Amino acid sequence: MAELNKNGLIYSCTCTRREIADSAVMNSEGPVYSGQCRNGLSGGYAGRPHTLRVKTECSRIESVDHLQGKVHQCVQREMGDFVLRRADGIYTYQLAVVVDDVWQGMTHIVRGMDLLHSTPRQIYLQKLLGYQTPVYLHLPLVVNEQGEKLSRQTLATPIDLASPLPQLATLRFLGQNPPDELVEGDITSFWQWAQANWQAEKIPKGNRFMSEL
Ligand SMILES: [Zn+2]
Repeated sequence: MAELNKNGLIYSCTCTRREIADSAVMNSEGPVYSGQCRNGLSGGYAGRPHTLRVKTECSRIESVDHLQGKVHQCVQREMGDFVLRRADGIYTYQLAVVVDDVWQGMTHIVRGMDLLHSTPRQIYLQKLLGYQTPVYLHLPLVVNEQGEKLSRQTLATPIDLASPLPQLATLRFLGQNPPDELVEGDITSFWQWAQANWQAEKIPKGNRFMSEL
C-alpha cells in the first residue's frame, strides 16, 4: 500500500453504498464507481470512515488465458476505481490475492471461469506494483439448471471423502478420459494417471451442466 500511496495511486473515498448506487453505471458485480472522491475529500469529510481506492486508467488490460484466449478489459470504464482496503480496515480480495501469489512464488494460476473478469484488475495491480504476471488458465464450471455454479451457497452435494472417485471422474467434464477401471480402483492410481495424462488442450471452454453428469 505504501508503494501505491507514494506514487499517488490510491485515494480515500467516503462515499456510501447509496451514493455509489445513485451515481453509477452497472457491471456484473454491481455499480461502477464514478471516481467522485479522486480529487480529494472536502473538509467536512476528513476523518470519516473511508475506503481506499486505486486510480484506474482506460489503457486496456489484455491478458492471455491459456484456455480462453485473449481477454480485454478497460478497467476504468468496466470496473471503475476499485477498493483495496475497506472502511473497517480489511484488505480486499483483489489486493490480497495479488500479494499472496507473489509471496508464494506462484507462476501458474488455474482457477474457475467465474474469476475471469477479476484477472484484468489483478494484472493491473501487478503492473503498478512491478510484479510479474503469472500464467493464467480459467477452467469451465459445472453449473446447475439455473446456470449457477455448484457451491455451498447453492447447496451442492459435497464430494464424498470416503469414496471420492466417482465424483473425481468428472475429470471427463474437462475433456480428460480416465479409463473406467481406474474409477473403480484406488485414489493414488487415479492421481498418477491424471498427472501423466493431463491434456490442457482438450479442456472445453464453456461451462457444463450438472445434468450431463
Ligand atoms: Zn467516494
